[in-house]
Amino acid sequence: MIKAFGYAAQDATTPLAPFSFERRDPRERDVQIEILYCGVCHSDLHTVRAEWGGTLYPCLPGHEIVGRVTRVGSHVQKFKTGDLVGVGCMVDSCRTCRSCREGLEQYCEVGFTGTYNGPEQDTGGNTYGGYSDVIVVDESFVLRVPDGLDPAAAAPLLCAGITTYSPLRRWRVQPGQKVGVVGLGGLGHMAVKLARAMGAHVVLFTTSPNKREDALALGAHEVVVSRDSDAMKVHRNSFDFILDTVAAPHDLDSYLVLLARDGAMVLVGAPAEPHPATTVFNLIMKRRQLAGSLIGGIAETQEMLDFCAEHGITAEIEVIPIQKVNEAYERMLKSDVKYRFVIDMASLKQESAA
Ligand code: NAP
Ligand code: ZN
Ligand code: ZN
Repeated sequence: MIKAFGYAAQDATTPLAPFSFERRDPRERDVQIEILYCGVCHSDLHTVRAEWGGTLYPCLPGHEIVGRVTRVGSHVQKFKTGDLVGVGCMVDSCRTCRSCREGLEQYCEVGFTGTYNGPEQDTGGNTYGGYSDVIVVDESFVLRVPDGLDPAAAAPLLCAGITTYSPLRRWRVQPGQKVGVVGLGGLGHMAVKLARAMGAHVVLFTTSPNKREDALALGAHEVVVSRDSDAMKVHRNSFDFILDTVAAPHDLDSYLVLLARDGAMVLVGAPAEPHPATTVFNLIMKRRQLAGSLIGGIAETQEMLDFCAEHGITAEIEVIPIQKVNEAYERMLKSDVKYRFVIDMASLKQESAA
């Protein structure tokens, strides 16, 4: 076994704290990775605080991992020692069901293995995520980080990037289409950048008027403060596609009425409590669609990383030492994130050596 060290929560109400544990030795097809950076996703907070139910403790989150390969199993073909690699939200799946065969491992019919909050498929034990110094992952679930991407700023692509890229592709966002993004947080700011790179006319909806300048600088063509009902009205019946990234329950009708005929609104934000019920007429009168989307498959995640390298896209990040992660959670709850916290794991090494 490999000795590992990270930050974990022991229950839903205590802060993350130093935690020593063990990882499996690399098997034939495993890659051992020294973690350099890990992004802080709002899903980490939902899970650590058991907001979605089903949290296994100790809970060691983190699924936006970038690191260096330090060891490979004897049958590994895709990676070698020294490669810069990424790991996202999944570390395994059944690989045989219809979804897995179609490269949609995130919809694995028996359930994919989460990078954290497992359960580990072989042992049934808990998986531990990226707020740690080392991880061992089957090469099929490891991504290549293209040259030219800053490793720290690329980490959030592994969840925030793919979660927004996948629905933009699935709903075939085209140049010239009008695309709305709701919420300028970790996911939202990636959605703005990606939709802009795909050639869309991008409108950002925010509850935070002070994010206007940033949104424009990130690539939005227009910014609408969603609490301003007159400003919302101007956009009625005009959107091809709206991506909702908000982490709290809110009124969906005020966005559905902004869709043109046959327009689609896709929810990726996953609040613990339900949204208020929507008015069916807002859907049926214009054949509008309301849908959801979960991260993206492994092949599509590689495609997204390559797209980002080609277009020079990474996240806007605030790098923090791991000792500040609990503070980062509190700021995330106040929508005070610009626009993704990324933990520098060098801070963990100093602690484990002390
Ligand atoms: P985040 O950085 O905290 O951003 C969420 C944004 O939502 C905030 O910055 C804020 O933007 C807006 N917001 C927050 N509270 C709000 C409220 N009460 N009313 C309206 N707007 C509010 O979170 P994130 O990491 O981007 O994650 C967003 C959500 O997506 C979370 O629920 C997360 O669990 C989920 N998620 C889903 C998937 C998936 O596969 N579907 C993957 C990853 C994450 P403004 O200040 O601009 O209003
Ligand atoms: Zn995430
Ligand atoms: Zn499967």
